Amino acid sequence: MKTQVLTWNPAWINPFESGWSIFEKIKYSNVVTSLDLVNEFGIRNASGEINRQSHSLFTLNEFDHEYLTQSLGFNVPEHLKSYIFKMIGIFPKNLNTKCLIRSELTYCVDCLSMGYHSLLHQFSLLHKCPFHLNDLMRGCNNCGYKLDFRTLKHRNIGAFQCKCSKPINPLKFTSESQWSLDLSIKDELLLNWLEVDLTNSIKLKNTYFDLPILINRPNALLFLLNSIKSLA
Ligand SMILES: [Zn+2]
Ligand SMILES: [Zn+2]
Repeated sequence: MKTQVLTWNPAWINPFESGWSIFEKIKYSNVVTSLDLVNEFGIRNASGEINRQSHSLFTLNEFDHEYLTQSLGFNVPEHLKSYIFKMIGIFPKNLNTKCLIRSELTYCVDCLSMGYHSLLHQFSLLHKCPFHLNDLMRGCNNCGYKLDFRTLKHRNIGAFQCKCSKPINPLKFTSESQWSLDLSIKDELLLNWLEVDLTNSIKLKNTYFDLPILINRPNALLFLLNSIKSLA
């Protein structure tokens, strides 16, 4: 792949699309593997080696941001940062918000069949796809293996595939032109959540949330929205 131009169109990226999803699309349209992407875009040490076992798909910290942005004509790190902020930016910075994003790949069958995986599918406060309202799934459809959402492992596997080398979920799209989706959020609570004025985070600073307990609470999002309303 080195020095070659990527087959890519920024229009293939949808709102709230995850880094995992974007990287799978790059793999698909260029017929390359995770390992190829790591070798091409991973940051190297002074001796020119890639020195990590895995690369973050959440912050993309171990990737060359400038080179990636230049190659895609799109700033993926900024895209991820701004959508993650929309989702969890209201929580005080001193709170450990890691548990708010699931570490195992969690997906919607309908979205993934069209090559789309959303950061919202990883949001621990949601249990259904906000676009299709169906239950979120975990694990490969073929072998049940639970994939890691946060990191791109240095495995030689192809696009949307599990380590068993079968698709994680059957794919329905036949060309990249079908990747631009016009999905609208149907989950009313989530819409309210995304509309919350983030200056409320100042008020939330004085409120203690035990997040690991909160995420297991039924209707956690409703509880939070009510808490914010009561602070207003
Ligand atoms: Zn969906
Ligand atoms: Zn599998």
